[in-house]
Amino acid sequence: MNNSFFGHPIGLRTLFLTEMWERMSYYGMRALLVLYMTGTVTGINPGLGLSAIDANSIYGIYVGLVYLMVVPGGWIADNILGYQKAVLVGAIIITLGHYTLALPFTQTFFLGLILVVLGTGLLKGNISTIVGQLYEGRDDKRDSGYTIFYMSINIGSMLGFAICSYLGEKIGWHWGFGAAGIGMTFGVIQFIKTRHLLGQAGLNPNDMEDERRNRLTKYMNVSLVAMFLVIIAGLLGIFTVDPRSFAENFAYFLTAVAGIYFFYLFFFAGLNYKERKNLFLLLFLFIGAVAFWSGFDQSASSLSMFARDYTSLDVNGFTMPVGWLQFFNPMFVVIFAPIFAGLWSNLALRNLNPSLPLKFAIGVFFMAISFIVMVYATGLAMENAPVGMQWLVITYLLHTWGELALSPIGLSAFSRYAPKKYIGQMFGLWFLASAIGGVLAGLLGGDALNEGLESIEPVFSFMIQYYFIIAVALVVLSFFVKPAEED
Ligand code: GLN
Repeated sequence: MNNSFFGHPIGLRTLFLTEMWERMSYYGMRALLVLYMTGTVTGINPGLGLSAIDANSIYGIYVGLVYLMVVPGGWIADNILGYQKAVLVGAIIITLGHYTLALPFTQTFFLGLILVVLGTGLLKGNISTIVGQLYEGRDDKRDSGYTIFYMSINIGSMLGFAICSYLGEKIGWHWGFGAAGIGMTFGVIQFIKTRHLLGQAGLNPNDMEDERRNRLTKYMNVSLVAMFLVIIAGLLGIFTVDPRSFAENFAYFLTAVAGIYFFYLFFFAGLNYKERKNLFLLLFLFIGAVAFWSGFDQSASSLSMFARDYTSLDVNGFTMPVGWLQFFNPMFVVIFAPIFAGLWSNLALRNLNPSLPLKFAIGVFFMAISFIVMVYATGLAMENAPVGMQWLVITYLLHTWGELALSPIGLSAFSRYAPKKYIGQMFGLWFLASAIGGVLAGLLGGDALNEGLESIEPVFSFMIQYYFIIAVALVVLSFFVKPAEED
């Protein structure tokens, strides 16, 4: 009776609930971030009074770091902790991060953010790895396992937007941050209580000789100490950084890391012809994913500020919290995910299932259209603000359609077509696209709102143009590069 979860291994329930609470805290807090940073320093719910450029840059750096840290987080789980322990330690660090943000001080703000970044690095990629390990030898069920897991992400973010935005915006920012901490606490308790249901999945790190493990542990400890020294020096104000130029350099850095990694794999990793061909395909998908997330993650930057400043949030006399509008994305995911899954399998029956680059093109194309809607809404707002909230709802609907064509499929494509020897690092590479996209979302979002409505149209038009170019390139590519299956 109690040994399966919707016909799946019972361990999936443990991962489902842990990820649900983690995403509740991540998206709930993230929805408050830019609003809190740009909020005026006076008033009943004082913010940090930062400029749009600075606040959005910090947001971009934050999202970029969260997803970048998945790479070392995966390395630590692979080699030292094992995945289950990495998830547990990560979840505890995230909880501490949110409680730190809940303290009613501005001085501890960055410390809280750093803790959430480090914890998410340990949790996010590794929990996705354990999902795959639940299905060892049962490939037939793995994809639907990941589909159920994707639901947990979106149910979690719905809870986050609903609860944290209400408390944070209506009562006080730190109440919203605290609610994220309470959510993550439920996740931790639940994980500890039901972890045994995972059995061997993700229990142990890779096999290796003790001597090698000790050496790797030493590397990790030295890196952690170095990192903490830098963090402490930064928090004490021994060095200061300008958020905007840091974000710009961070975007270059991440792009260079991704570029070097692809270059290395292509030329020096001893790959055969088929593996190289697939890597070429993954490179284009990677570029498509970066473009997609650079628009998608503006939900909590430029689009959130647009909602606050130029959209009527009034429903029968009640002013909705700004973050409630973001609720539409996960809600649409839950509604449309089964429809998209059915659509792909229906098309597959007729041999019409779009190829991977074509699906990514669809994703980026919807992103372009969504920003055309926003340019139109901006035009209306310039004539007569505030505008109705339907424009943002339509934008989020288009984001969701794009997401469903690109995001769940991207993850499985990266694990399927990655060179066999490098498969463990592929989650890292996939999330690196989210990292670059996140930083770009902060940079573009800051530029867009820098001069209020005036600056939106040029920035969004620039993005739309690039999204179309990338979408068309992916369509063209789909005719030339077909994934080579292993025989
Ligand atoms: N919405 C998905 C999640 O939170 C994908 C996010 C991403 O990769 N940028 O897991």
